[in-house]
Amino acid sequence: MWVLLLCLLVMTPCCQAMKLAGQWYWQDDPDCAGVWRPFQTPGQPPFAKGTQYLWLQTTLPEEPIHDATLLLNVTGQNFEIWLDDQKIYSYGDMEQGPMSYGQRWHLVDLPLDYEGRTLRIHTRSGNPFCLGNFGTIQLDSSVTQMATILRRDIPYIANIPLGIFMIFIMMMYYMSPTAPKSLYTQIILFMISFVLWMMCVLNTKQLFLDMPVFWWFLLRINAYLLPILANLIIYRVIDRKYRRGTWQVVMAFSALFLLALFGELLGFNGLDACAGSFYIMLPVLEGLVAYWTIRSAVRGNYYCRAMLLPLTGMLIAGTLDGMFGHFYWLPESGSLLPYGTFTIGIFVLYIVRQQVRRERSLAVRAAGLADAMAEAVARSETDRLTHCYNRNRMDSVLAAEISRHRGEKDAFSLIMLDIDFFKRINDNYGHDAGDEVLASFAGLIRDNIKKSDVFVRWGGEEFILVCRGCSRDEAQLVAERLRRQVAYSDIFPRQRITCSIGVASWQGTGDSAADLLKRVDTALYTAKRNGRNMVCCAPENVGLSS
Ligand code: GH3
Ligand code: MG
Ligand code: MG
Repeated sequence: MWVLLLCLLVMTPCCQAMKLAGQWYWQDDPDCAGVWRPFQTPGQPPFAKGTQYLWLQTTLPEEPIHDATLLLNVTGQNFEIWLDDQKIYSYGDMEQGPMSYGQRWHLVDLPLDYEGRTLRIHTRSGNPFCLGNFGTIQLDSSVTQMATILRRDIPYIANIPLGIFMIFIMMMYYMSPTAPKSLYTQIILFMISFVLWMMCVLNTKQLFLDMPVFWWFLLRINAYLLPILANLIIYRVIDRKYRRGTWQVVMAFSALFLLALFGELLGFNGLDACAGSFYIMLPVLEGLVAYWTIRSAVRGNYYCRAMLLPLTGMLIAGTLDGMFGHFYWLPESGSLLPYGTFTIGIFVLYIVRQQVRRERSLAVRAAGLADAMAEAVARSETDRLTHCYNRNRMDSVLAAEISRHRGEKDAFSLIMLDIDFFKRINDNYGHDAGDEVLASFAGLIRDNIKKSDVFVRWGGEEFILVCRGCSRDEAQLVAERLRRQVAYSDIFPRQRITCSIGVASWQGTGDSAADLLKRVDTALYTAKRNGRNMVCCAPENVGLSS
């Protein structure tokens, strides 16, 4: 489609239609009995306010054109076309019927012998602001006329899909929990209004949806709504100090819109009558808002910086379009503003980038929090001096083992270790030396156990080893090995260190964590009583309630 549009754009100079550039005359006598007065084209005859009927006249050129067709773009009026005394086309009632609202183009086939004949257009309008407003009257072959209609649509056909695409993008980002919802709502509403405005101006829609009244009202309403919605976006993002002023601009445009609407409803052609004030307010007030936006942008307001391009782009395009239309500087007006979609697109990209950044920084913060939490949990389960797990961890490990092997006898075992005569180390060499021994003892044990074993500092100089998947006899062998390793180690060079060890295993159904701990404690006590530096096993099935 873009290639096709590009081709049409390139073709434009080649298929410029022939304008009826000869001398035009006009009169406002309803019966065409007055004096013909000349007037300048393009432009309107200087008719008096309230004039309802108008006759326009010119002489058709002498050169013949194949398949000669008139193209007229007419706003808000009924009309007839006469060739000498022969009526060849009519639109709407010229006497009493309802007025034809809205803008509409007409293709009028001319008879073969039209050359050099007098063309008269008889118009009737209920709207003094639109009377005689023929946007286009040109003569050419019907194919060239259709190309003209299509060519004028290029800006709209190019930008409507882009606008709709942007609305969907904004809606997608609107769903994000971190999105500034009210700002996004304003942008979406503005884009909807802008796309509707472009659809209203689109010529080719008449081929499928010939509803000039509907499109005319929609066009006028959207024209009034656009600055209101645009300024509401700016109001959301501008520096606090300019917010009041921006709000007053919104109110001014809203007041004009309401006035125009009431004027229209009361039958005073309010939407057209207020257009003059609208086009004066637009550059003045928007210029002011643009100045405030620039000030905010200079002071570092990110959104206002992003806003500068669409604001200035649309302001310049809109003003140029308005002036071209009003002063007939260009034969075809109203074709720059749609490209404002591109500048809005850049603003939307800025907004999306801002949101991506916000979400990324939130994700980084969330990851940091997760790490901190994991560290806090690990710290709450670890003993600072020996780096063993503490009782918190012991409780959860024991509960998990029991629930996994509730009915299985000998599914896991506990080994309880206690350093012999530890108090003497403290007493003889000081508390710091005692701490050193505790840390070295724990390190030695940790280096000599399986990864699946859980090593816990139970309190003071007592430790428990949870041996997963170990029967009592297997645990006894492990305990014996550990006892010997401690006894023959040099964890404290100044004095030999030994430990006493108790062993007990899970007895299955009927056993409990408390009973198991009691049994292993008793076994340790037995080892102490029997002379220390030895391993004692708790007898099986002892202490079971069943
Ligand atoms: P037994 O052979 O009967 O176990 O004698 P013991 O001296 O080892 O036992 P006792 O329970 O009488 O004394 C344990 C001592 O451990 C008492 C306490 O001061 C010391 N202790 C407990 N926790 C720490 C610690 O974190 N650091 C140091 N340095 N000493 C500790
Ligand atoms: Mg001890
Ligand atoms: Mg002790």
